[in-house]
Amino acid sequence: MPDTLAIGVDAGGTKTEGLLVDIEAEEILDRRVVDTPAEDADASARAIVAVARELMAGRDGVRVLGVGAAGIVDRDGVMRYAPNVAWRDFPLAERVGAAVGLPTLVDNDANMAAWGEFRFGAGRGSTDMLLVTVGTGIGGGIVHGGQLFRGAHGFAAEIGHIIVEPGGPRCGCGNLGCWEQVASGRAIGRLGREAAEEHPESVLVELAGGDPHKVTGVEVTLAAKQGDHMAVRILAEVGRRLGEGIAGLVNVLDPEVVVVGGGAIVAGDLLLEPTRQAFVDSVEAPDHRPQVRIVAAAMANDAGAVGAADLAWLEMGKG
Ligand SMILES: [Zn+2]
Repeated sequence: MPDTLAIGVDAGGTKTEGLLVDIEAEEILDRRVVDTPAEDADASARAIVAVARELMAGRDGVRVLGVGAAGIVDRDGVMRYAPNVAWRDFPLAERVGAAVGLPTLVDNDANMAAWGEFRFGAGRGSTDMLLVTVGTGIGGGIVHGGQLFRGAHGFAAEIGHIIVEPGGPRCGCGNLGCWEQVASGRAIGRLGREAAEEHPESVLVELAGGDPHKVTGVEVTLAAKQGDHMAVRILAEVGRRLGEGIAGLVNVLDPEVVVVGGGAIVAGDLLLEPTRQAFVDSVEAPDHRPQVRIVAAAMANDAGAVGAADLAWLEMGKG
């Protein structure tokens, strides 16, 4: 049995997923998933403990536990605020680490996913990478000079909450017109419903079972893949907003590569080509800088847990 094992957990608002990773061999050996009891802070922490214990059972070589969780996590692993779980100023690393008996690192889920893609996925070989996760909202992770960039308090890379449309749609954070309200899966769904209401005979309405109010990003993407022009235009519009935002971030961060992950990338180039075009149209001096690649993430849903295992190993596990 190798002794270079780490557990990585992606603690989401719906599911808590754990992986047992052999860090040296770069191999996933086992996995477990349980539901997250999101309304109960203690029970949500216990779900992480349960997953970790199952993955540790009967094995000696497990050295560390890394956890990625959606929300604002400080450098001590205190979950200051989680949008989808009842954690508020909750000492998640301390609680979980004490129960599991392993050195435990907790960080933001998109930070962990960025680290996973940087080390083993689409960002491999770069030194400066930006991850943009486009799901219901927009998350981000920044790797700068080969290190995860966390900021003074650990809260860096909350890129979804840059206001890009003052007075625009209300965001979960309380502001109006955050980037994630106009360039995420939620935006695809909202534009889809608006189009469906105007065009009750459209493919979109048919795919949603005849009810325009039931259109989500899933139906828009499906319709676009079938060649429906209205759906293609919606993805192009959201892709444009995505590319404009990425251009702003590239102006600030100057990465080598921008990795786009999250559920919305099932749309593939229907989303990413308009993103790339808008990026080139918006970034400063595009003809006078090396090309910045905008690529799809490579590790799908495993990036966060693998990144968590690896980062915990690097920061707490060696020796
Ligand atoms: Zn916001």
